[in-house]
Amino acid sequence: MVEFEKNYRISGEIVCKTGLHIGGSSDTLGIGGSDSPVIIDTYQNLPFIPGSSLKGKMRSALELKYSGEGGWLDKNEGKVHACKDLNCDLCTTFGRGATDNIKSGPTRLIVRDAFPTEATTSSWKDKEGIAHGTEIKGENFLNRITSMATPRFIERVPAGSAFVFEMIFSVYSQDDQARLKFVLEAMTLLEDSYLGGSGTRGYGKITFSGLSLSEKTPEAYRNGQDWQPVLKTDGKTTAREILAVL
Ligand SMILES: [Zn+2]
Repeated sequence: MVEFEKNYRISGEIVCKTGLHIGGSSDTLGIGGSDSPVIIDTYQNLPFIPGSSLKGKMRSALELKYSGEGGWLDKNEGKVHACKDLNCDLCTTFGRGATDNIKSGPTRLIVRDAFPTEATTSSWKDKEGIAHGTEIKGENFLNRITSMATPRFIERVPAGSAFVFEMIFSVYSQDDQARLKFVLEAMTLLEDSYLGGSGTRGYGKITFSGLSLSEKTPEAYRNGQDWQPVLKTDGKTTAREILAVL
């Protein structure tokens, strides 16, 4: 039995603490001559963070954390967790394959694409070595025997860049209040992991900053009211702080 109770909105900024590389297609590049371009929003011709990348990384962070007996990690093949358990918190929150469409209601979490803040866009314009929001980093890969270096040129969003993000979490059952906490936990796990590629070599450290959690009830939708802040999270601006009071 699912019945819409409310939507939550988690919004704020994703701040890149190190260079960020979310891979795009080389077909769309043309400028800069990188071996490994970042994904670019064709409307603004600037980098963005696809909601799918963010959501996928949050999901896998939870799968890795809850990897024990009966957990979500596929230890055999390392595949994305998928199951038909009606009460599976992970599948209910993050979604199931279309063929596994069962009666647990819609996927609870929607993660929007995140676009650069205005301050970031203008800082890119002023910085040397930055074209359409990215810098090119040369990296050498050494042949272990001959020590011959093979240079590669990787495109990345410079450290300090910030992106506006928004997630919507829908509540359809009592269990969903606990699932909201999973979402915030996934955000804290992601902050200690990385977004995009080359994370073990320093790329993709991000933080969620300036967060706010707000809600909209069916009445608010009916009456045209805006998002209302969730009072108990007042003044809490990080995922960890919000999680601690939920
Ligand atoms: Zn599942």
